[in-house]
Amino acid sequence: MIHRTAATWQTETWQEALKNLIRTPEALFAELNLDPALLKAAHMASREFELRVPRSYVARMERGNPNDPLLRQILPLGDELVAEPGYTQDPLGEEDANPMPGLIHKYHGRVLLVVTGSCAINCRYCFRRHFPYADNRPNRGRWQEVLDYIRSDTSITEVIYSGGDPLGAPDTTLAWLTRQVADIPQVKRLRVHSRLPIVIPQRITPVLTQWLTATRLDTTLVLHANHARELNHEVENACIQLRRAGVTLLNQTVLLKGINNTFADLKELSERLFACGVLPYYLHLLDKVQGAAHFDVEDNQALALHQQLQHHLPGYLVPRLVREIAGEPCKTPVLPQAK
Ligand SMILES: *Cc1c(COP(=O)(O)O)cnc(C)c1O
Ligand code: SF4
Repeated sequence: MIHRTAATWQTETWQEALKNLIRTPEALFAELNLDPALLKAAHMASREFELRVPRSYVARMERGNPNDPLLRQILPLGDELVAEPGYTQDPLGEEDANPMPGLIHKYHGRVLLVVTGSCAINCRYCFRRHFPYADNRPNRGRWQEVLDYIRSDTSITEVIYSGGDPLGAPDTTLAWLTRQVADIPQVKRLRVHSRLPIVIPQRITPVLTQWLTATRLDTTLVLHANHARELNHEVENACIQLRRAGVTLLNQTVLLKGINNTFADLKELSERLFACGVLPYYLHLLDKVQGAAHFDVEDNQALALHQQLQHHLPGYLVPRLVREIAGEPCKTPVLPQAK
């Protein structure tokens, strides 16, 4: 394999960046000069859920620091192998809300399409780490069934592209799908949930902007950033291009112990998002997925952090603190216990 230098990833296209992901603990440890003592556990944990991370994202990490908040999101740890009671494989009950491959219909008026099974980055806390993606990758023929389902339910006014990471799909596929969705009369809004513009900002190309904005649908891109340090200049430029083109930009964050569970980190994240043209939308409590218990922040601490944000930021920079409860009709707001 060719050794890729810093200069190489800086000129990569997004497709090249996806091909050149770091996928082994050795490569990651070498790149960041990490303590080899952590290597064995990294191997074991990556057998459960593979290591995947773009080089341009690794370049934002501090070398030699095992506690870097970006590194912690992707570094497989021995903690993941500890079975904790209450942490399960399908904490959101999505298998029950999956009427056909590629479609999740849990909430009124909105359906989620599983556009691709994979992601550019594998986040260790992800609730989809055990999701049966192999059954959820429809081709064009299978999409017809999904489109028919949407067409036949006139309450559905919003379609959400999700995954995996939907922006891992080729623009030709996404443009085709968007034309099909826009042909369904009652659908008004298109939403894309993606972490790709954060981890590979060169994903935001004129071609992408074209299909996203040429449609009659109102379009929103919901990003997923957990730390201000993820939002470098390349990410900022990508966001600004989309804003200029008329795309509404929102962000969701997962509250993660050891990564962003301080007031200073969350405040800086909100402010940095706004500077990039993005509004904070949700601050999610961790879904109780097996292997992620060590990231969990207790409700009391989450509420205290959220209250501090409310006391120090304008309302529009305070994300809604929510958790997802299987079977509930929406994300559930996390509120102080009534006295
Ligand atoms: C989170 C989610 C949505 C979107 O919910 P909003 O509150 O509208 O952002 C839609 N469908 C599913 C299955 C979800 O998990
Ligand atoms: S990008 Fe999103 S879906 Fe993919 S692993 Fe990370 S959190 Fe999970």
